[in-house]
Amino acid sequence: MKHLVTSPRRLLVLEDCLDDAELLRRSLSAEWPECEIVHVSTEAGFKTALEQGGCDLILSDYSLPCFAGLSALAVARERCPEVPFLFVSGAIGDGVAVESLKAGATDYVLKDRLARLIPAIRRALNEAQECVRRKQAEAQLRQSEEQYRDLFENATDLIQSVTPEGRFLYVNRAWRQTLDYTEAEVAQLSVFDVIHPEYHEICRDHFQSANSGEASAWEGIFLTKYGRQLYVEGNVSARFESGKLAATRWIFHDVTEAKLATVALKRSIRRYEALVNSVDGIVWQADLPSLRFSFVSQQAERLLGYPVSRWTGEPGFWQDHIHPEDREKAVTLCSSLTEQQKYQNFEYRMLAADGSVVWLRDIVSLRIENGGAPQIQGIMVNITPRKQAEAKVRRIQQELEATNKDLLRRNQEIQSFYHTLSHELKTPLTSAREFISILMDGLAGPVNETQMEYLGIAKESCNQLRVCINDLLDATRLETGKMALELKPVSLANLVQRVVATMGPRAAGKQIVLRHQVQPGLPDAPIDEHRMTQVISNLLNNAIKYTPPGGEIVVTAREAPAHPELLHVSVRDTGCGIAKEHQEHIFDRLYQVKAGDATTEQGVGLGLYLCRELVQLHGGNIWVDSELGQGSTFCFVLPKSQQMLQSNLLVIDDDPDVLDMLRQLLAAEQYNVRTARDGQEGLQEMRRQAPDIVLLDLKMPNLSGPATLKEIRKDWGQIPVIVHTAFADGELMKQALAFSPFTLLAKPCPAEQVVETVRKIQRAGDTAIWKRNHYGLPRPSMK
Ligand code: ADP
Repeated sequence: MKHLVTSPRRLLVLEDCLDDAELLRRSLSAEWPECEIVHVSTEAGFKTALEQGGCDLILSDYSLPCFAGLSALAVARERCPEVPFLFVSGAIGDGVAVESLKAGATDYVLKDRLARLIPAIRRALNEAQECVRRKQAEAQLRQSEEQYRDLFENATDLIQSVTPEGRFLYVNRAWRQTLDYTEAEVAQLSVFDVIHPEYHEICRDHFQSANSGEASAWEGIFLTKYGRQLYVEGNVSARFESGKLAATRWIFHDVTEAKLATVALKRSIRRYEALVNSVDGIVWQADLPSLRFSFVSQQAERLLGYPVSRWTGEPGFWQDHIHPEDREKAVTLCSSLTEQQKYQNFEYRMLAADGSVVWLRDIVSLRIENGGAPQIQGIMVNITPRKQAEAKVRRIQQELEATNKDLLRRNQEIQSFYHTLSHELKTPLTSAREFISILMDGLAGPVNETQMEYLGIAKESCNQLRVCINDLLDATRLETGKMALELKPVSLANLVQRVVATMGPRAAGKQIVLRHQVQPGLPDAPIDEHRMTQVISNLLNNAIKYTPPGGEIVVTAREAPAHPELLHVSVRDTGCGIAKEHQEHIFDRLYQVKAGDATTEQGVGLGLYLCRELVQLHGGNIWVDSELGQGSTFCFVLPKSQQMLQSNLLVIDDDPDVLDMLRQLLAAEQYNVRTARDGQEGLQEMRRQAPDIVLLDLKMPNLSGPATLKEIRKDWGQIPVIVHTAFADGELMKQALAFSPFTLLAKPCPAEQVVETVRKIQRAGDTAIWKRNHYGLPRPSMK
């Protein structure tokens, strides 16, 4: 037994015998001189003393005359049950002794063995003290258990204690509520009923590897009674008893929402990454001012061959791999981004890992987030194929230009050779013809009939040769722009009649009927008489040449039906006709239909070419209607008045000053000038009458230049257009280029350059001027 403090401070003695009381007092005082000994001998005194309290122990005689010892014991047990109660009495039987102990007495001492008294008191006091202490401890334990239970039960975390076999020893309220089980149900459960099967293995590992040391972290999935999955996170620790695992303690919390959010976030990051990496361009981000890359998409690796880690890992990686010629520009543009100038886009070259050069277009923007350090981000698009195509086009263009120049030079050489040759032939031919004439006229002596016939053939050959040479000379004059017309008012009717009369004998010689039909009262028209005679003679010559004997040729001259402003001439024959596939070519220079028919006399293929050029120089047009074997009809029209020969210009510009300036300038150069203040007005004007040349501004209200040009190309085909703009390299220009070709004049443009450009276009297209003059007009009817 533990040694306790056993010095009593106050003892109550119930004894009726004074001697015995005195004896007791002495024994007690001898042992505990400090102790107060309260002596009572009656029931009342006993009760009063008890009420006063403070007694550490009660000593009582067993048999008192008026107050039985057992009654005193009952009173004491009722009032102060914790105070030890000892009987000190004379001899009592064993039965009584047992009964008194049963009734609650602590011990008993016989008066004749008082030596036992002090040890008995000591033992009783110790026991009492021990009992009090035990009760206090028990009360404390109860209290702390309640506190812990309260703590666990009200914790929001889920708490479970599980045996090594998986049975639940304890689960707290949060656990039961979250997993939807009642306490009774939990008692029937195993931990494996509530843990997701995927985590059973891990759970077993925890049981096996459990040690009493640190709690280990754990995460897994629990299943509620109704099968809902619960992501949990927490820790597991083990409790050992006698060196054996007694239980595992689990404290965890529900992280389902956070887990699902994380899963959703991961999924969205994966989606975003897949998107960024699938973009056909390098998406990137870099810090400023270091230009160190913090992100670059996978495309960087695919396009340039360097691993993504090098882009983001090596400072200055991007700069170091830019083509040295483009480096400064690219770095300066990126570094110059500011709040005011947030976007840039530029083109530059980078050097790929395989040594090739990659052209990139980088679209860059500045990014400042919540006052953080500025960053730039962008997307680099591979434009190498475009750049290569552009270079190829440039090369081809240069080659074409060189070839064109070469062709032009050779053409000029040929022209000048023709010209020289024709002149060189003409002089000896003229003298040969003259001498033949002298011989035929008998000026060199008499000529017999046979000689006369031979000389006639020689003279005719000279004539044919002269026609040929003249045609060749005319063709070179036309090619070099040296053919000038002398236009005078001439009666077309007379001219036709004269040519028909001249050709009459030839037709008659071939048994061909040649007649003419001229509308009476035709007005004089601006005509070069010599050249027009040449045109009609050529057509008649061909008609006679390609019409067999017995055929008929009719020449008509009249006003063009439905077009009173035009004169209409036709030469109709009943000859061999022309196959459709040749009809569109027969007016081309040197074009001939190879005749299988040996009877036809072959020319050089210049006749119809000269006809077309001369008619168009008159401001007219020529065409053929023919059917193989059915004869041909060649028609041409000529303008009745001089004014129709002037070129029509349409100026479309929204600037009234520019309109005024151009009107005056071009009118002074004898052009018919009309003006329009925007695209819409311009198109209306064109519908009223098509011009020969359009001068078009690009930046205009209502209908812009490019949109107007689009309409022009749709309705008027390749009509010549001069784009007259101050924005020669802007977006409008790019749009306009889709409807090229056109000539470009950059505003402000000197007056002489405008006039010279118009002239050049006119010269280049002068042989086709009527075509454009009357673009869209139906061809005058034949009848
Ligand atoms: P050529 O000197 O060969 O006559 P042209 O330019 O005058 O050259 O004519 C070109 C071709 O057109 C001729 O080769 C001929 O086949 C054809 N042709 C011209 N006029 C007629 C016609 N009236 N009838 C049939 N074919 C014609």
